[in-house]
Amino acid sequence: MKFKPNKKLGQNFLTDKNVIKKICNFTYIDKNSDILEIGPGTGNLTDELLNKKPKNFYVIEKDKNLSENLKQKFQNKIKIFNDDILTFPLEKILNNRTIIFGNLPYNISSKILTRFILNHDTYKFKLLIFMFQKELANRIIAKINKSDYGRLTILSNWRLNVQKVMDISSGSFYPKPKVESSLLVFNPKKDYVIFKNPNSLEKVTRIIFNERRKKIRNRINRMFNYDNKILEKININLNLRPQNLYPEEYFSLAKEYEKLRK
Ligand code: SAH
Repeated sequence: MKFKPNKKLGQNFLTDKNVIKKICNFTYIDKNSDILEIGPGTGNLTDELLNKKPKNFYVIEKDKNLSENLKQKFQNKIKIFNDDILTFPLEKILNNRTIIFGNLPYNISSKILTRFILNHDTYKFKLLIFMFQKELANRIIAKINKSDYGRLTILSNWRLNVQKVMDISSGSFYPKPKVESSLLVFNPKKDYVIFKNPNSLEKVTRIIFNERRKKIRNRINRMFNYDNKILEKININLNLRPQNLYPEEYFSLAKEYEKLRK
């Protein structure tokens, strides 16, 4: 291997040809599709995706050496941004035909996902096809009342339909990570609760899940300044714990929270 993998940038390159093929063939890509790949690394997935001949192919890679290498390898077949996915002005390149792929750097994968969820007004896309550590993927697709049900479950559920495609063993990567991975696919929902600012959902879930094991009573009371009218309206059993509330209940909490702070 020509490159010494950089741990800080979460570099675990996908080397298993079968897995790469499966990821590429998961969805229909044609000459009208745009592709954005996050963190293409050495370009293993990129290479295979190029065979699908999309209309535009963008990649964002933070590592300078890897970016240079991609430029040499792919020339003008793809548009390379040597930049950070967490700050790049994505609205400039995305549209509702864009399919976004990413074997994500694991240390920032939930940040990346959250960014796509919270900026839904400006970040258009058709599909997200992301690889996560299995444990994180399980939190995203968790069911109510389970211990891995949490903020990421609720945020994802708010505006995306999530589906697990497959688990991928650590032996499919170089260097081999300590844990297994899972591939998830996210479809934007047509109907979802509209917030003035989706950050209110982020905030409400953060406050409530801050103490996972405790009853929600105190946190909810404080959140709404002990206002009985609001509490009656919300009509949630305050003896429950964070993991016992449905996503829809968090959506109504966030709606009321927003009203208080207008
Ligand atoms: N997709 C490749 C590499 C995955 S490893 C493959 O499957 O083989 C994760 C990649 O994300 C690395 O190339 C790393 O340099 C890049 N990366 C890490 N942090 C990033 C960031 N903030 N913005 C863009 N790319 C980043």
